[in-house]
Amino acid sequence: MSTKVKCPKCKKEVLWENNKWRPFCSERCKMIDLGTWAKEDYCISDDSDHVTIDKGNLDQEDIV
Ligand SMILES: [Zn+2]
Repeated sequence: MSTKVKCPKCKKEVLWENNKWRPFCSERCKMIDLGTWAKEDYCISDDSDHVTIDKGNLDQEDIV
């Protein structure tokens, strides 16, 4: 059984394991919490955010 946590921002349940954004559900919620989301001066287009997350398990539709 996998450990699940609720995202502090949107309260969505997410898997703890293999979640690089924990305890948040996604990069978006983490960036919002850090206050950097509005700056748009970071890059999310590199491949590094695709290698460690199994999106089939995390169901992160709001990552788009
Ligand atoms: Zn969230």
